[in-house]
Amino acid sequence: MAAALPASAQSLIRDTEIEAIIDEWSAPTLTAMGLEPSEIEILLVNDESLNAFATRGRIMGLNTGLILQTKTPNQLLGVIAHEAGHIKNRHTLRDGAQNAGMQPMIMTMALGALAALAGAPDAGAALLASSQYFGTLGALRYMQSQEGEADITGARALERAGESGRGLVEFFENFRSQEVFSDARRFPYFRSHPLSSQRISALRGPVERASHYGNTDSEERIAQHALVLAKIHGFMDHPNNTLRLYPSSDTSLPARYARAIAWYKDGQTAKALEGVDALLAEQPENPYLWELKGQIIFEEGRPAEALDAHKKAVELMPEAPLLRINY
Ligand SMILES: [Zn+2]
Repeated sequence: MAAALPASAQSLIRDTEIEAIIDEWSAPTLTAMGLEPSEIEILLVNDESLNAFATRGRIMGLNTGLILQTKTPNQLLGVIAHEAGHIKNRHTLRDGAQNAGMQPMIMTMALGALAALAGAPDAGAALLASSQYFGTLGALRYMQSQEGEADITGARALERAGESGRGLVEFFENFRSQEVFSDARRFPYFRSHPLSSQRISALRGPVERASHYGNTDSEERIAQHALVLAKIHGFMDHPNNTLRLYPSSDTSLPARYARAIAWYKDGQTAKALEGVDALLAEQPENPYLWELKGQIIFEEGRPAEALDAHKKAVELMPEAPLLRINY
């Protein structure tokens, strides 16, 4: 995982493993929507607030905070389907006055994001940071009618792709109940994507009648989701918080992964390497573990040995550009 900006700033994060998982889950639904998956860039935004956005430039941003709020793979896929629905319907984010004057800003942001993706993270990050684009995005919103449209477009695509729309409804319902009892409005996502009970009930009917409604997440996806959450916590949270969330009594793979990352971030390099090596003993062909090992050794000041680990990661996954850049 690599952050494109200092940790304090909102920034894009790149993680080949998380990106591969999200792309794999999303592709059938995007295709079913008539979008070309390879043309949609799904960006991970290092921001603990719950937010996501889509631009007409075919760029979708998911905040790490939103991903962490999803309880199942199907909920995360549901949010992605909804955002893709905005792209498919060519919706435009607007400010409170309902004008589309923010488009040039969003286009610049999109260019920055693309520059970051093209392997020039500094150029991209500078563009992204200079105008606090992501903060501004929180103030923009779609029209209520567009929310309904994105919901239905997302739900139909999920059904055609053989996926349940249950997570899409569940995710919104969770926050609808918070909105009633507390203050979910503080979540930027629900300022830009206003919720209403009418909207949720309009979505629930078609979703529940769909033939794939009863489909459940596979064991593999549940494991991948747990891994995504563990890596985000590990890299983005304070190490103490990660170690509290994943105590040593938890011997699952995600927990051991998260602890290794937390130790690495905490400067406990020997312990981190021990953790990664134990995972590698079980999964010697896992390129992402070799990537992490390379990262730990490199920052410890042993570039030659780091090179060997990164080389191994590239050999195992030659088509992954980020691993190659690390190497
Ligand atoms: Zn929306």
